[in-house]
Amino acid sequence: MPTPRFIVDGMLGDVAKFLRILGYDTLYFPDLNDRELIEMASREERVLVTSDEELYKLANRRGVNVMLIRGGASREEKVAFVFASLRIEPQFDPDKTRCSLCNGKLRRVPKEAVKGRVSENTYRAYDRFWVCEGCGRIYWIGSHWRNINRSLRRIRQIYMRLVEG
Ligand SMILES: [Zn+2]
Repeated sequence: MPTPRFIVDGMLGDVAKFLRILGYDTLYFPDLNDRELIEMASREERVLVTSDEELYKLANRRGVNVMLIRGGASREEKVAFVFASLRIEPQFDPDKTRCSLCNGKLRRVPKEAVKGRVSENTYRAYDRFWVCEGCGRIYWIGSHWRNINRSLRRIRQIYMRLVEG
């Protein structure tokens, strides 16, 4: 199975962000209407992720690969549900992760390349840096990504429960 790509509806920004962090090409345009979401999902062969039942039914009728997520669930439950539906174990790889803001690919850069672009403290404390090819934001393990492993542990627990249950 090829690596899935996603388009996420306007209510699920937190899910979009996490899918990007886990390395999945994920579009998120909060202003698109249902018709535009369906068209884009269809044209780009993306999995449409939504918590809107009407949109889900409509997309289904148009033959779009669509996934309905329960609105009241926590972010961790929602993300776990996406992976459980695809039977893909969620994993974090800093060399595959994407920019949570713009979906751009991150490129590993030598430490010297970010000198003057991050704070002195950060520069001293960390050795591995990545730059977003889309928006130029700089990433390093220890700040932006500090909480990822905690969330991921929780997501993996829920995932296991879902695929075994
Ligand atoms: Zn970016």
